[in-house]
Amino acid sequence: MTRRKASYRSLTSLQHDLRVCRACVEAGYPLESWPVRNERFDQHAYMYGQAPGIVEGDERRPWRGRAGKTLRRWLDLDEEEFYETFYCASVTRCYPGRPASGRGDRTPTPREQELCSFWRDWELRILRPTLIVPVGGLAIKRLLGLSGLNGCVGRTYELDGASVIPLPHPSGASGWLNAPANRELTARAAALIREELRANGRG
Ligand code: SF4
Repeated sequence: MTRRKASYRSLTSLQHDLRVCRACVEAGYPLESWPVRNERFDQHAYMYGQAPGIVEGDERRPWRGRAGKTLRRWLDLDEEEFYETFYCASVTRCYPGRPASGRGDRTPTPREQELCSFWRDWELRILRPTLIVPVGGLAIKRLLGLSGLNGCVGRTYELDGASVIPLPHPSGASGWLNAPANRELTARAAALIREELRANGRG
């Protein structure tokens, strides 16, 4: 049974409830994993992806598959540095399974996104990150209300005192990264993130 307190004071207590959350299953959605977890809670940067893939769902750890490797290469961080630097969250936290077409992973429904935003809102309130990196179109839309990658990748936004620097999804599933101009924008965004981390003594 899903537990949600009226308020949380620490990420330890939040994760205690988040790791057993079944809100979407209880609402009738066919999730194929338990929520992905963080192992440490002392980061000052917040990575916000779309949803775990099959590998992340199995391991219950974020960014374990090929997309995670690409993301670390863009940011020039090894695994240890990456998990030390970023608290990793996503629009939804459980592997959503395959869509009816069988191609790729199912995009979480608006209701699932809404159910899971409870955890994001509390994480941001407790962690108060100085840097937020939304990864991919859905995460950018949920966080900044912006549609599409054009015009926002390569720029810095401000949200409640944090710098927000969007990245495209490193899986490349959308094909957006195929255009050389978009790869340049991605490199610019990654440079902005590294700069921001350095400015905060973390790069
Ligand atoms: S996706 Fe989020 S809200 Fe839905 S069951 Fe998983 S952790 Fe809970």
